[in-house]
Formats: sequence, structure tokens, C-alpha cells
Amino acid sequence: MYNEQSATPEQRKIIHSLVKAGNPAKGCPHRFAWLEEFVDWPDGKTFGYFMPLIDTKRYVSMAEIESKRIAHPGYGIMVEACRQLAECLRELHIGGYCYRDISKKNFLLNPDSGDVMICDNDNIIIDRQDIGNIKGTTSFVAPEVILNTAKPSTVTDLHSLAVLFFHLLCGGHPLHGKKERETKVLDVISSRKLYGLDPVFIFDPKNRSNRLPDEKGYRHVAKQWKVLPVHIRNLFLKAFTSGLKNPSERVTDIEWKNALTQMQDLHHVCACGAENFWDPLLHQQSNCWHCSREVKYPPKLYAKGKSVQAMLVISGRRVSTLHFGDKSGYHAVGEMEENLQDQSFVMLRNKSKETWKATLGDQKADVIPNLSIPLVPGLVIKAGVNELLVYP
Ligand SMILES: [Zn+2]
Repeated sequence: MYNEQSATPEQRKIIHSLVKAGNPAKGCPHRFAWLEEFVDWPDGKTFGYFMPLIDTKRYVSMAEIESKRIAHPGYGIMVEACRQLAECLRELHIGGYCYRDISKKNFLLNPDSGDVMICDNDNIIIDRQDIGNIKGTTSFVAPEVILNTAKPSTVTDLHSLAVLFFHLLCGGHPLHGKKERETKVLDVISSRKLYGLDPVFIFDPKNRSNRLPDEKGYRHVAKQWKVLPVHIRNLFLKAFTSGLKNPSERVTDIEWKNALTQMQDLHHVCACGAENFWDPLLHQQSNCWHCSREVKYPPKLYAKGKSVQAMLVISGRRVSTLHFGDKSGYHAVGEMEENLQDQSFVMLRNKSKETWKATLGDQKADVIPNLSIPLVPGLVIKAGVNELLVYP
């Protein structure tokens, strides 16, 4: 139910249209607690809507994680949550809608699986429809909305999404450095300056005016930033340098989704138990961020098609058409499995419809659909026009 001030005729119109339209996110409707029915309060002064009850035993808020009431679920889970959020936004945007208020308050997550539930859906409107007063949560809002030169839209959503991902992966705000540290009161005037007039990324390679202070409350952000693979850091750099003021240069939801899917392929747990990411763009891998020792990574599988993508050989991971740069949709091509006879190798099962031609030195073998082959370094698999190569 809305309080009387918020129960405006415009909001009434929005709720009616969202209930009538149904959830536009066709690929992941179960991740939205969508508005199901409009409800008029009997006194006629206010109204509201029915939505599904969220199981708060399974889903927790970011506030619960940040206050340490719930143990931090770990990087792997956070990456999965980000990937799902990118997918949900993508679906909403394709449906012609914008969310307007992306922030860490408007979704819940399952700390065991990374599954997300987007809760506050009454801010959603048809993209660029000039209705309602919702501008979003100040620290997540795009500069042009803060400055009142644009209304919330799918492109301003992209800025908020990048801010949210930075929170989830680095544990801080991308613009909270020296400038925010020196701000005595974060009021309307100082917020306008920090997020609208003069926003500077804390890791901006050219503009060093807003570096992270080397003190408690900021230091962990620099540490977490270094754990991120280079391709993810590059997306943040794009989002918070050129993308800050040029909306057309923002990182799109599909770019995030693909990059986060790739990040999952690089995830590896060090012998000490800390989560690290192997980085195909680095010649020299960083030591474990936790124990400072060299991380022993498993062999790597390179998928060569329209593009080249690398992943770690770990049982349970899948090779899909996306790994070959095929953007037409996700189809599993192969699945990595434990080798029950010899634990030192991981097997790759052919999940495609074509026979693979495998070569290892001077040995050759056909891998028919549903058969598997051990992924040993030096192995080359011809899968139609694509190739799979295993490196140590
Ligand atoms: Zn370690």
C-alpha cells in the first residue's frame, strides 16, 4: 500500500499498466516479484497491489551481508548474482521497459546459489515514458539524471547497474574516494557535485583527483579491485570514465552478462580456501590475495571460433556456443566431468550433435556425440569449424 503522498494518479496509472502488461522479462520472470493485482483501499485515499510473498529464509538483503549479520557468500556467488541481474535487466530492456531505481536495496539474493529476486518493481515504466517522479537512489543515479538534463531510461539504468556491480564485486562505491572522504555532509549540493557535476572514478587512469584514501573503510576496495580479472576491470574503466558522461559509451547489459559468464569460467579456489581468478590476459598470474602463495591452477581450455575464449578445466563446467563467439544463443556443446578411473584428468563429454576429431601428438580419435575424452595438455579437438585446445 502506498502512503497518501505517494498514491498519485500517475502512480495509479503505472500500477494498472504493469499489472495489465504482465512481466515483460520473458527469459527470467521467476526472478521478479511482479505486481499481480491492483488493490483500492476502501477509504478511497490510497491504493496498492498484490505481489508474491518472498521466502526470506532463502533470500537475504545486501544490508544483511554488509552489516555481517549474514556471512559474505563469496566471490563465486556474487558473480552469479551479478550475471543474473545483468540478464534480468537485459530482458526488461528488450521488453521496452526501464527499471529507474537500480540499487543494492531493490533485490534480494540467495547466499547459497547466487539466485536473485528483484523486489521493488513498481518503479518500472515503458522506456522514455515521461511519467512519475522516481529518479532512483542518489548514489546510483546517472550524472545526467542528477543534473536534471535527462529522465531515467534504459541508458541511465546501465550506469546504475555498473555502480551496483562495483558494490557487489569490490565492496564499495566507484566514486567514493578522496572527494567523498573530504565531504563533511552528503547533502543535495555535495551529492550533485560528487555524482553529477564532477564525478571521477577512484581508479581513473588519467584523472587522479579522486584516489582511494589509504585508510580503513576504503583500503579493502583496492584489494578487491586487484582480484578482478582484467576484462572486468576494463569494463568498469569504460563505464566510469567515458561512460560516465557519454551515455552511448556505457557498458551494455549483454556485455556485462557475457563478461560475467566468462569470469565464472576463470574462478578457482586456492589450496588455502580463498577464491581467485585465473587471468588469460596476464602473462604473470598474481599470487593468492589471501595466502600470498602462487596459486596452482588446473589446465586451461581455449575455445577458438569467431573469437577465442579461455576457461579453466574444472569438473562441472560447460563449453557452450557462446565460448566460440556465437551470439545467437546459449547451447551447451560439451560438459567437463570427473574421471572416475583416474582423478588426475577431467573428461569432456561431447554434448553436440557432431563427431569431434581429436588429436594428441600423433594419436587421432573420433569423439562421437555423448562420448567423452580426457582433457590432457596438448589435446586439440576439431568441433566442426571450431577448435578446442588444452594447455597446461
Ligand atoms: Zn591462497
